[in-house]
Amino acid sequence: MKILLVEDEQKLAAALSRGLNLEGYTVDVIPDGKKALTRISLHRSDYDLIILDLMLPGMDGYEICKQVREMNITIPILILTARNETDTKVQLLTSGADDYLVKPFSFAELVARIRALLRRPSEKLPETLKVGDLELNPTERRVLREGKEIPLTLKEFGLLEYFMRHPNQVVNREDLLNHLWDLNYVGFSNVVDVHVKNLRRKLDEGNSKSVLETVRGIGYRLSD
Ligand code: CA
Repeated sequence: MKILLVEDEQKLAAALSRGLNLEGYTVDVIPDGKKALTRISLHRSDYDLIILDLMLPGMDGYEICKQVREMNITIPILILTARNETDTKVQLLTSGADDYLVKPFSFAELVARIRALLRRPSEKLPETLKVGDLELNPTERRVLREGKEIPLTLKEFGLLEYFMRHPNQVVNREDLLNHLWDLNYVGFSNVVDVHVKNLRRKLDEGNSKSVLETVRGIGYRLSD
């Protein structure tokens, strides 16, 4: 799951980003309102959630939220607001935001809100994803194949979740990079292949049939 964090307080942004990484989320941070809107409009499919600070240079959180919704982008939006701005609750929700959190907030509260937003009924995300003999529970972060639990790293889990949300489709490397690595990532280019290889090894251990096939030159397909 990838989150866009639009926050101009550097220390807060860095702390949230670190914490969310540890929870298994990939986070892009943008400190400017206008740049954030451009990023969202051009890369809408990369993000599962937007966390938006209200007071921002360039363009404020309300305006971003309104414009995002005018573009028919339905990514859940969580707004961060300072204590003295809470009387604007109605305004926040009518601007198209899904939820808001008053600063200062606890990190645990933020994570709880994020989880709730990512399984909104309107998104119709089932609690447990099932493809073939694989089962994945995003909340408990558990993966089973034929009922047997498979321990995965955060990255492998993220990859598998992405595959399981796009079953029987060819997923290309670029989609995986955009979705699971942040935009500042400057590592080796075969990072996706390395993680997918490890994931496949774990999934296939003790099974004769591989569920994750390589589509040469394009990417991968998880079949049921
Ligand atoms: Ca701010």
